[in-house]
Amino acid sequence: MRCPCGSQKLLPQCCGVYLQGLFSAPTAEKLMRSRYVAYCLKNIDYLFNTEHPSHRQPNSRQLITATANHLEWLGLTVLATEAGQSEDKTGVVEFVAVFKEGKSVAQLHERSRFIKENGKWFYTDGDRLPPFQPKKNEPCWCKSGKKFKQCHRKKGSSR
Ligand SMILES: [Zn+2]
Ligand SMILES: [Zn+2]
Repeated sequence: MRCPCGSQKLLPQCCGVYLQGLFSAPTAEKLMRSRYVAYCLKNIDYLFNTEHPSHRQPNSRQLITATANHLEWLGLTVLATEAGQSEDKTGVVEFVAVFKEGKSVAQLHERSRFIKENGKWFYTDGDRLPPFQPKKNEPCWCKSGKKFKQCHRKKGSSR
């Protein structure tokens, strides 16, 4: 099985090593990718454990479980990262995650923040961003394989 994070590597050679707890993710981006994969595989413990304790809600586990069970994840694109390398203490990852809810395909475009404590990266929180719009001749964000202009681009859009 290829890793759902889109790296083209096999799962056991990619995010699988972090999900199994063999290593902790060395960068904020790798943690973000492995958390996406944990949503795909419904690994609730991994999602709970990699959320920073100071940001956990009393119902964090239920929220994570509901999200993981409710949505079918179709693909991840990391758009940008700031810091978050092994020598950093904080990092930001901007990404688009595509998911299916019922019959409709939608995207989560978020800037997620991460901090490192005792050598381990944790997700703290993130800002939802407006839907990511590729250029009109670029592949659509939904991973259909079509160009954006032939897929989810709204008529009359300037891009
Ligand atoms: Zn991966
Ligand atoms: Zn599309």
